Amino acid sequence: MSILDNRPALKAEIDKVAEVAGYLWQKGWAERNGGNITINITEFVDDQMLAMPAISEPRPIGKVLPSLKGCWFYCKGTQKRMRDLARDPMANGSVIRILPDCANYEIVADVPVIPTSELPSHLAVHDYLLAKGSPYRASIHTHPIELVALTHSRKWMEKDVASRMLWSMIPETKAFCPRGLGMVPYMMPSSVELADATIRVIDGDYDVVMWEKHGVFAVDTNIIDAFDQVDVLNKAAQIYISARSMGYEPDGMTDAQMQRLSYVFGLPK
Ligand SMILES: [Zn+2]
Repeated sequence: MSILDNRPALKAEIDKVAEVAGYLWQKGWAERNGGNITINITEFVDDQMLAMPAISEPRPIGKVLPSLKGCWFYCKGTQKRMRDLARDPMANGSVIRILPDCANYEIVADVPVIPTSELPSHLAVHDYLLAKGSPYRASIHTHPIELVALTHSRKWMEKDVASRMLWSMIPETKAFCPRGLGMVPYMMPSSVELADATIRVIDGDYDVVMWEKHGVFAVDTNIIDAFDQVDVLNKAAQIYISARSMGYEPDGMTDAQMQRLSYVFGLPK
């Protein structure tokens, strides 16, 4: 028995998480238990689900998140591998619901897999998104090799310097990651400071945030779209590196070419 049985809409969402987990492993972005995915599944909750008993004790989130009242999430499990989640999402992640105090959660299905240690930061971002009325329901953290490599140079950590370079590699990068790449200086993984800094950068109008010398954190309406934004940015980084390894600094598209793209496609930046 699984909570996904006879719930095709919910199963389709979890299948998307499994699909993306497989891509993360194939791309070499998800060594060992690296990376996290959390999706807000509240819209798929039915009366039967509401009546389901918890399969864990109440567990503290570590923060009070008032906009998450009554919300349900699917979360990757702590110490679980993306490559295993791709095969069996309900053995490597779990469905949780937020308790009415907005400070604790309980696991509801399928087995009591404890969520990722990054749960407080993922849930804090979801809380922020809901409070803002955002349609975004998915968050992903992963370690894209070429994007992380960029952050080992001060120059690319300056605001919008990397965005501009990445956008200028091929037109699709700006079209499909139109807000660019926000930057967060190095902070301790799983820390409240990192969560708060991530929210500040998302609030500054970015969907994809780079954590210096660590990885990316991205949000979008669903997990496929969140992954795609990271994928197009990393592709652009690979093109830049390919040109550099051929012995030259790539010219990049001109400012006028990129402005024209924003005008024609109605892009926000
Ligand atoms: Zn990480």
